Amino acid sequence: MKRGEFNWTTGIFIIGYHLLVFALFPLYVIFWEVSLGLIITTIVAGSIANFTITAGYHRYFAHRTYELNKIGERIVLMLGALSVQGSVLQWAHDHRIHHRYVDTEKDPYSIKKGFWYAHMGWLFKKNKIIDNTVVPDLVNNKAVMLQHKYYGWLVLVVNLLLVLVTGAIVQDFFGAFVMVFLIRLFCTHHLTWFINSWAHMFGSKPYSEEHSAVNNELVAVFTFGEGYHNYHHTFPSDYRNGVRWYQYDPTKVLIWCLSKVGITKNLKKVEFPLIKRKLILEDERRVLEKIKILGQQKWKKVEVRVKKITESLSNKLLEKYKLVLVYKTKKAEERKEIKNKLKKLGHSIKMEYKIWSKICNKVLTKT
Ligand SMILES: [Zn+2]
Ligand SMILES: [Zn+2]
Repeated sequence: MKRGEFNWTTGIFIIGYHLLVFALFPLYVIFWEVSLGLIITTIVAGSIANFTITAGYHRYFAHRTYELNKIGERIVLMLGALSVQGSVLQWAHDHRIHHRYVDTEKDPYSIKKGFWYAHMGWLFKKNKIIDNTVVPDLVNNKAVMLQHKYYGWLVLVVNLLLVLVTGAIVQDFFGAFVMVFLIRLFCTHHLTWFINSWAHMFGSKPYSEEHSAVNNELVAVFTFGEGYHNYHHTFPSDYRNGVRWYQYDPTKVLIWCLSKVGITKNLKKVEFPLIKRKLILEDERRVLEKIKILGQQKWKKVEVRVKKITESLSNKLLEKYKLVLVYKTKKAEERKEIKNKLKKLGHSIKMEYKIWSKICNKVLTKT
């Protein structure tokens, strides 16, 4: 880090509260009794704070993957300050740049600068000057600009209120400070930071190898679904990160549930045929690379076959995607015909995919 680049406010705050965590938490556990009520309050407050970041800051403000009503927006702006991760404007600005320039010198938390830099080291650098052209929608949002202007005060007020109210309820103000402020903040911070470090280093890349983002189920569990980062970097406009029904993504469930009561709407998602097509093209690339290693001459026939089936599958999936779009615009009585077409196409894709995956497995497992 160059001279004059150190962010003193953030630096002192982060180092200071970490020292307090390591000094006060063991003391509190040894000499005081941690009540069940306080533990539950800490988990609830931590979960709310985490959701304001994952569903609010990230999927709503940074990516606009759905629409949120005004009350919901105000709640995110207020309670988002509990997490002490900067204003929405700064957070979304840095995050949009992260997506646009991932893994390059311009990426504010580039994993190329190492695990700890991406995790928290970058925070010790002075904030990036906000380029309004990156966040034009947010600059024009009065509530967002108000939060940005009074962010420091908001952090103080919401966190103080949380500690005082919790302290009064459980009759333990010191415990409330240690648990619902220090420990909760420590957990929320590191869990969010894991997305920039762990989820850019250790995991699988089923959707794309063009960027460092990986899918990591364990990170997803700790971060309310944000660990499916390979999918997210490949399709950032999707409100889901864990796109399959069995993938643990409570943030997508929350956004979906809120849409049922009218708080959120217009949830954007990438249609399944397009996701499947991307997976197939990515696997084709892997297979062709492996064939290069195995010897193109010897595997020529397989190479030609893989290319041919991939092309056919890709076209069929595109056709399916277009049909799905048409299906959505039709009335119930007009849907029957398209439904039959979709069924036939689906069956044909399934059959071809079986053959294709057999060939791919054969190549990829060849040593
Ligand atoms: Zn993102
Ligand atoms: Zn990322």
